[in-house]
Amino acid sequence: MNNEIPETMSALFKPGPVAGLQLIETPVPRPGDDDVLIRVLLTGLCGTDLHIAAWDDWARRSVRTPLIPGHECVGQIVEVGIGVTELREGQFVGVEGHLTCGRCQQCRAGARHLCLRNTNLGVHTDGVFAQYVAVPAANVWVHGKGVPLEVASIFDPLGNAVHAATTHPISGLSVLITGAGPIGLMAAQICARMGARSVVITDISSFRLGLAEHIDVTPAAAPQSGPDELRTVGDTPLGFDIGLEMSGAPEALQTMLDAVSPGGRIVALGLPSRDTPVDWADISTRMLNIQGVSGRRIPETWRSVAALVANGLDPSFVITHKFRYDQYDEAFATAAGGQAGKVLLDWA
Ligand SMILES: [Zn+2]
Ligand SMILES: [Zn+2]
Repeated sequence: MNNEIPETMSALFKPGPVAGLQLIETPVPRPGDDDVLIRVLLTGLCGTDLHIAAWDDWARRSVRTPLIPGHECVGQIVEVGIGVTELREGQFVGVEGHLTCGRCQQCRAGARHLCLRNTNLGVHTDGVFAQYVAVPAANVWVHGKGVPLEVASIFDPLGNAVHAATTHPISGLSVLITGAGPIGLMAAQICARMGARSVVITDISSFRLGLAEHIDVTPAAAPQSGPDELRTVGDTPLGFDIGLEMSGAPEALQTMLDAVSPGGRIVALGLPSRDTPVDWADISTRMLNIQGVSGRRIPETWRSVAALVANGLDPSFVITHKFRYDQYDEAFATAAGGQAGKVLLDWA
């Protein structure tokens, strides 16, 4: 298969600390001894990528340039490093984008998701918005037979949804989800499937709330639906047992704090775009529990995702657009516009 790999490839590129991306022709990366080279087939656009393209405050603080961004993908292994024995050419794979050191105290304790020296594919090192990407074999997830390519391409954000939705037991409880982006929608689908008594999901975008009609949950428009109304539609007068904050919107975080019950458990996954005041006295007196969640547990969450999909979970309702990679401008504008769920780029 080696001789089919070209010398150069197309890639989306950020040359320096400025807004925008360019489509360039660049050498195909060479895999190191413990890496694999993947031919990229489909990639997903994530909020992270929008931050990087726009070069906002978060990107300025967090991103290293020059950079090929992108971290959500499905592809096919075309070459394995000489130290890689457990993977082979031709396998359809996804990639865990958290590049962990394997040697720090957390990694050695089996908590790779809390690695002290974590770096991120497509943020700190060249990512998947390219026809080929080289990644450590330890970060590769091999897809089972029969997983549709489009579903395989969103295993990474589906993993975020599974990680958030399984942080606390859900069965029989009322759940409020603020933010109906792809991760919020998939988390809502999983909570309903895991036997939540009621699931209410909010967003400011009626388009995104419309996607919630594909699953057995109750959509509610933000900011019109205040905490009291949300409790009513969720049939949970004392407040929600569980809250999943997926939006990063400061207003949504406040709604969440007000809508959960005393002792309620909040999972915070959304990243606020600005400083957000929080009434800590309220958290103390109402004995709220707030758990931060980021990324996926490695590899447990990937196994859970694969099991859910093998058992019939179909998250493809969140995929609303697919563009060829050279239509990236339109793809990024669509993803940023609020009239879209998950937007894919096709590199095949
Ligand atoms: Zn992502
Ligand atoms: Zn580590």
